Amino acid sequence: MNLKVRRRDVMPTPQLPTELTDAEIVIQAKLAHGTLRHDPCIGGVVVVRGSQLPCNGCEHILEADDIEMHARFPDGDLLRFHARCFGAWCYATRS
Ligand SMILES: [Zn+2]
Repeated sequence: MNLKVRRRDVMPTPQLPTELTDAEIVIQAKLAHGTLRHDPCIGGVVVVRGSQLPCNGCEHILEADDIEMHARFPDGDLLRFHARCFGAWCYATRS
């Protein structure tokens, strides 16, 4: 009896990348479902203090002591993000 397992017989184990945060997972899901725009914000980026409005990425409130980032689009649309969510959105839309 041969107990050696040949490499091609081993199925890869499906696994979520462990380095993803909850916000990154939410942002990627929204991009996949088309509920978050993915075109580049060539209208510019503005950094302000938290506006107490929901983040367009993770949907959590942008608290007053948070850094809030605005992605402005040529069509006048504006997305609000936590700094980390903006980073995740930029990264997710770049690929
Ligand atoms: Zn956020």
